[in-house]
Amino acid sequence: MVKANPALADLPLRPELVGEEPYGAPQLDVPVCLNVNENPYPPSGAMLADMAQAISSGVYHRYPDREFLRLRTQLADYLGHGLGPANIWAANGSNEVMTHVLGAFGGPGRRMLTFTPTYSMYPEYARNTHTEYVTAPRRVDYTLDASDILLAIARVEPTVVVITTPNNPTGTTTPVTVIAEVLANTDAIVVVDEAYQEFARDPEATALSLLADHGNLVVSRTMSKAFAFAGGRLGYLAAAPAIVDACRIVRLPYHLSAQTQAVASVALRHADEMLARVDDLRATRDELLRRGPQLGFEVVDSDANFVLIGRWADRHAAWQQLLDQGVLVRETGPEGFLRVSAGTPDEMAAFYAALARVDAPRM
Ligand code: PMP
Repeated sequence: MVKANPALADLPLRPELVGEEPYGAPQLDVPVCLNVNENPYPPSGAMLADMAQAISSGVYHRYPDREFLRLRTQLADYLGHGLGPANIWAANGSNEVMTHVLGAFGGPGRRMLTFTPTYSMYPEYARNTHTEYVTAPRRVDYTLDASDILLAIARVEPTVVVITTPNNPTGTTTPVTVIAEVLANTDAIVVVDEAYQEFARDPEATALSLLADHGNLVVSRTMSKAFAFAGGRLGYLAAAPAIVDACRIVRLPYHLSAQTQAVASVALRHADEMLARVDDLRATRDELLRRGPQLGFEVVDSDANFVLIGRWADRHAAWQQLLDQGVLVRETGPEGFLRVSAGTPDEMAAFYAALARVDAPRM
């Protein structure tokens, strides 16, 4: 018999989960949050009213449209490139979309390959889908070329390769020509995670342009970043219809609630308004890239809405000193760096003022 209120050790937990902690950046109630690469500008009152109207006219005693065709059509229209609803899949954040991709194409005895440093959730997607997680290093400047990727594919023999561009946490872009060369030389599922693509200096340089020629390509996107919809939880992918069908096999039925579908649909109808601050956020990032070195810091060139800045001998001390001044950034990435998301002008002013008072030793 198991006693009431058992410890985890009293339960038949999967062995690979023993000692694991739930993932997540600290969610702290502080004045300035520059830690999870959100768009800091909330939707307008008019937009919120539209969303409320869509929710209040929804149907809740029936299950929602399992195939969410209206939303998939809107997402296809947003992406362009000749895509239609059969090319689109979506879920509660691109985290869940990736779990579908790995549920379908990973699994026991199979490997997923990524290029580090990269997004810290990938190992968890792999673990949760019983897929082996294997990494290969990026170059010293965090770039990747086709030979790096193809050599790693030859060594690891993955069924799923994930290339993140712009990469989190470095902000580094991998050119479309590199992705094209990889696709010409592998049959693995190649997921290009473009969560931050709208912030790139050239947002039109996207792997979407390769979909017409490559049935093993998956382009992953999210409404959480540029689209200012992190709380709405809507991530999506574009791929060949057969890949979408594979995701439909492994998803939980009705995984996208009626509310999510309704609100995301309103946001997409007003895409221009949702994306209106992207230019400002790009400029804020570029200012950080300029100002960091002027203030004596090292920065990593970034095409996303965040910048790695450092280097501190004890970055945790620097992180804590910023937090003590009400500014939350992210302690992640290569040794000595902190990752700072682009905020509003007031938030950035608070960040620069706090940064000037940090006296943690540098490397
Ligand atoms: N991919 C990358 C590279 C990310 O940085 C993030 C969010 N931090 C995601 C995917 C997941 O975003 P979401 O689940 O909110 O769509």
